Amino acid sequence: MRSGWISGLVVSTLVLAAPVLAQETADAVAPEQATAGQVQALSEAAAASLQAKEEGRPVEAENWMVAAANPLAVEAGARVLRAGGTAADAMVAVQTVLGLVEPQSSGLGGGAFLVWYDADTQSLTTLDARETAPQEARPTLFQDENGEPLKFFDAVVGGLSVGTPGTPALLEEAHRRWGRSRWPDLFEDAIRLADEGFTVSPRLAALVEADAERLARFPATAAYFLPDGEPLAEGATLKNPAYAQTLRVLAAEGSAGFYGGEIAADIVRTVRTAPGNPGVLSGADLALYQVIERAPVCASYRAYEVCGMGPPSSGALSVGQILGMLDNYDLSVLGPDSVEAWRLIGDASRLAFADRGRYMADSDFVPVPTKGLVDPAYLFARGALLSGDAALEEVEPGAPEFDHALNWADDESIELPSTSHISIVDSYGNVLSMTTTIENGFGSRLMTNGFLLNNELTDFSFRTHRDGVPIANRIEPGKRPRSSMSPTIVLKDGKPVLAIGSPGGSRIIGYVAKSIIAWVDWGFDVQQAVALPHLVNRFGTYDVEEGTRATGFSKALTAMGYEVKARDLNSGLHAIEIGERLKGAADPRREGIALGE
Ligand code: GLU
Repeated sequence: MRSGWISGLVVSTLVLAAPVLAQETADAVAPEQATAGQVQALSEAAAASLQAKEEGRPVEAENWMVAAANPLAVEAGARVLRAGGTAADAMVAVQTVLGLVEPQSSGLGGGAFLVWYDADTQSLTTLDARETAPQEARPTLFQDENGEPLKFFDAVVGGLSVGTPGTPALLEEAHRRWGRSRWPDLFEDAIRLADEGFTVSPRLAALVEADAERLARFPATAAYFLPDGEPLAEGATLKNPAYAQTLRVLAAEGSAGFYGGEIAADIVRTVRTAPGNPGVLSGADLALYQVIERAPVCASYRAYEVCGMGPPSSGALSVGQILGMLDNYDLSVLGPDSVEAWRLIGDASRLAFADRGRYMADSDFVPVPTKGLVDPAYLFARGALLSGDAALEEVEPGAPEFDHALNWADDESIELPSTSHISIVDSYGNVLSMTTTIENGFGSRLMTNGFLLNNELTDFSFRTHRDGVPIANRIEPGKRPRSSMSPTIVLKDGKPVLAIGSPGGSRIIGYVAKSIIAWVDWGFDVQQAVALPHLVNRFGTYDVEEGTRATGFSKALTAMGYEVKARDLNSGLHAIEIGERLKGAADPRREGIALGE
């Protein structure tokens, strides 16, 4: 059945149709979108990039490119790249500015995953800087006295949800491995903006207003986000001297100045004395924090290898599963206006989420069948389940090959969107794809030394068992909560061709898979692929992006047996295509840009 979405057009003309869709998507989420006039003193190049995004075009460059969620952060990264810095150097500048101008999404108080393609060794590395559960955390951390799970926000707000931050250690580790610039220089932009002030963006202002009640609960947080009791206004100049001071310590002492000394003591005190909801993070947790290098997880899709972050993230496994199950179906013939294509994508996604809920967690604590889950034969068999013509009536986890027999119960952790994604290609040919988060918007709402502390522990399952069977993603001391973050690098013949990732809670998986399909199968350029209206399916409800043509599929999907919901689907995809030229894309649903030379 045809949906009416671009119906009648042949695949090759979709490329022309897509910018219209991109523009429509941007309009649909206008309250959280910046325009050139609303963001402070942008360089000419940045303003031109914003223009390209609004017109639905990628930004093109020869030598290097950086794409991230805020123009000031992108400009900081661009300065480093222009001066001969590597993608790792630029990331430090981007992340430290994001922590200032987009504090609700990521920062020093959070964690991240980084995927790196090294031009010298022509190999991929992934670094896990996920937050860890404190040593004093117990599996029942998020249960009440009757063993019932806490309500989500009762768990999020306050000290209980705060895991040991990983981002400061990641900045240092990435710079140590791959940096060329002087470490202290990488903090200059963030320190200057924190000292002199930056202009509060429309998105930050809107989010502060929406969250004012929770932000008001803690004095340090309220003083910063609700000066004189009023939510920060769009266009106001905001200074953060405490953050500048923290950055000076990091610049001078490295991450040791964060994981020990006064900053560490303040973090511990803030968490353990949080009124109403104190947590259990200790100085030892901070002192012992380690970034972990893990093997990348790759799945084949058509002529490509799609590679990313393995456990504790479910990102690369789930994206890889979706694509692997679809590998046997010709989506290019079906095209993006075919409801049949979306049935296949939607049900592949449901099958992937069934496996995710059962098997995916921190593999340092529970055996995860990482190889089995993306084994081509397993995915071929799972994909065969999609051969019907209606929504699958039942979706059960499969039986991937384990190293040894095991039995887990299904998980039920809740994730709500914040987070940020950074893609960078440097002039040496290195590629970085990093998704970074403090989990919920404004994390735990606790603030110290100019940054917010994460609530990442609520990415664990609140329950420990189901019918007596343990849940893989239950809380354990030192364990890292399962994530959906999917920083991805796509390779062809061993060479990187695309860096991509997004925020969006567990919808990240669908956003990234969909964009890769649009780029690989439907011939969309990278900007069109990220702007394409979303249709995402995780657990059965088919979410279609409100206010876009994606809602044109609602009827047909309902007729196929899905429950369809139109929603605001706030991704933040930032992608770079690596070909003869670099092509950068920034999600029209957010304030970011791509910038290159
Ligand atoms: N905490 C989530 C995760 O690690 C990300 C939250 C988001 O993207 O909004 O998967």
